Amino acid sequence: MVKFDNVSKYYRNGEIRALAEVDFEVGEGEFVFLIGPSGAGKTTLFRLLIREEKPTSGEVWFKDDGLSHLSGRKIPQLRRKIGIVFQDFKLLRHQTVEENVRFALEVTGRNLNEINEIVPYLLEQVGLAHRTKAFPHELSTGEQQRVAIARALAHEPEVLLADEPTGNLDQANAKQIVKLLKQINDWGTTVIMATHNDKLVKKNKTRVVKIEDGVISE
Ligand code: ADP
Repeated sequence: MVKFDNVSKYYRNGEIRALAEVDFEVGEGEFVFLIGPSGAGKTTLFRLLIREEKPTSGEVWFKDDGLSHLSGRKIPQLRRKIGIVFQDFKLLRHQTVEENVRFALEVTGRNLNEINEIVPYLLEQVGLAHRTKAFPHELSTGEQQRVAIARALAHEPEVLLADEPTGNLDQANAKQIVKLLKQINDWGTTVIMATHNDKLVKKNKTRVVKIEDGVISE
């Protein structure tokens, strides 16, 4: 489903090497931990996958599309197939839980009836049906990440990317978020979770891709 084919990425006219000849594939339905220290290149892999960046050399594939040559018109379509959540949640602070999720659907012009059906369903899935009217600051960090996950699922993505989703959470909340991501994977979405927290990984018998200094080491 996702394939990095000999991908290198340099920033600042070649001064900074973020990725070096990265080769790996993620199949449909897989759950993969992408682990490596800060600065290893994890975020860069994700940015290439949603076509925020292009590789310096090599090619990133999403299904049959080589992303370097994807036309501008097709980029929004790609991004609807790939949901993403971040360490810092990126919620709209002055909007309720429900409004944060609605917004993701409204910007793509979904009709009101559909939105009214989908939003409660998504919030139920992430265990927040009882907090729909709360504002982000009224939620625990774990709950805020659940809102971000609900929003990322709004377009029923084929792949969910989670970039250090537990970075701002304590261990108990972190475990709950991993459990939720596993559940989402069981429901059929491919999940790639980037983290530097080995503790979370050891407790889970899942595929692990290790990256260090831009190189896949394991
Ligand atoms: P990680 O997500 O594993 O912490 P990143 O992919 O963010 O790692 O970064 C990999 C390397 O690329 C780091 O050395 C980082 O400083 C560098 N880097 C990332 N983005 C940029 C950018 N836009 N400009 C310059 N250097 C960057």
